[in-house]
Amino acid sequence: MSLIVQKYGGTSVGSPDRIRNVARRVAKFRAQGHDIVVVVSAMSGETNRLISLAKEIQAQPDPRELDVMVSTGEQVTVALLSMALMELGVRAKSYTGGQVRVLTDSAYTKARILSIDEGNIRRDLESGHVVVVAGFQGVDMEGNITTLGRGGSDTTGVALAAALKADECQIYTDVDGVYTTDPRIEPKARKLKSITFEEMLEMASLGSKVLQIRSVEFAGKYRVRLRVLSSFEEEGEGTLITFEEEGDMEQPIISGIAFNRDEAKITVRGVPDKPGIAYQILGPVADANIEVDMIIQNVGEEGQTDFSFTVHKNDFEKALAILKGIQPHLEAKDVIGDEGIAKVSVVGVGMRSHVGVASQMFRTLAEEGINIQMISTSEIKISVVIDEKYLELAVRVLHKAFGLDREV
Ligand code: ASP
Ligand code: MG
Repeated sequence: MSLIVQKYGGTSVGSPDRIRNVARRVAKFRAQGHDIVVVVSAMSGETNRLISLAKEIQAQPDPRELDVMVSTGEQVTVALLSMALMELGVRAKSYTGGQVRVLTDSAYTKARILSIDEGNIRRDLESGHVVVVAGFQGVDMEGNITTLGRGGSDTTGVALAAALKADECQIYTDVDGVYTTDPRIEPKARKLKSITFEEMLEMASLGSKVLQIRSVEFAGKYRVRLRVLSSFEEEGEGTLITFEEEGDMEQPIISGIAFNRDEAKITVRGVPDKPGIAYQILGPVADANIEVDMIIQNVGEEGQTDFSFTVHKNDFEKALAILKGIQPHLEAKDVIGDEGIAKVSVVGVGMRSHVGVASQMFRTLAEEGINIQMISTSEIKISVVIDEKYLELAVRVLHKAFGLDREV
């Protein structure tokens, strides 16, 4: 008998019928004798609906009130799933984040979990209940309701698994695992039996939206055994997220092609090429709590240089306004924004022991006439920024070039 945390996403609980399906699946595991904690998202579309509703009243909804509001989506599904379990004769009990006491910091709409008091859950498990916990939410020290950022139920699932020292955290979603790339762009994408944490982290951070990135970080840090599975298929092993040292001896060089359309580029043209300029440009951006991803500074020419960086599209207008505001102070010729970019990356731990991955990537893109605007690398990833209109082509040619369409 083991303790399993199962997380079901919005589509899996999108209707009463689907909620009944989830209940049947949970009941099946329960009948096998496992202790089960279930984490659920809001019904699909519900969080978006609540956010739009808030925006009808306040263009920029007050973050505290927004959290009070959007957290209700999950409150509905935990109760419904508990009822559905009871209908199957399974003892069940629902909890909001605050009732468990998922303690978070006070960063509304993107709070971080600080600790979980697992006493209530343990007691209910011991008395034979399935415990159903609302994902995506917690409370801060003062008892204010907080939420964990979009997709945050994954993080709730993993954090609970860590706190309870669960044997496995299973994330049930509408895809049946992690793929070599998005199958909607490359139909030949293959499901991976396993992927290492580090690769998954790169894939998630680059926009392969299977799991919320924080959940993967959490799982890596607390060594939670994490598996992604389909909530619509009865069978199937899904994709197991492994630790590199326990992985196969024969790791492929590249595990996947990730991409991201969520960034925009800002270029500051013709700034004096002198010490402190990068800080003068990025300092005010950081002070505004805007995360910068890729950064590039050109070779100076006649004492001047161009400086480009990318930010999330949500922060683009704000970052652009900041830089336009300090343009005279920077003595910059121009500040230009470009939202029509995309980032494509090849990811794989095998890169550590193989040379030539970058050159193969660049050659493949060059052969298609795709211009590279920015490049960044880490030990296990090479990313490039390209014109957004070539994104799909780039993904497909790279997928083929690295042999990802071949069965292994
Ligand atoms: N309901 C939240 C969202 O849509 C959290 C989640 O589904 O994980 O982002
Ligand atoms: Mg999700």
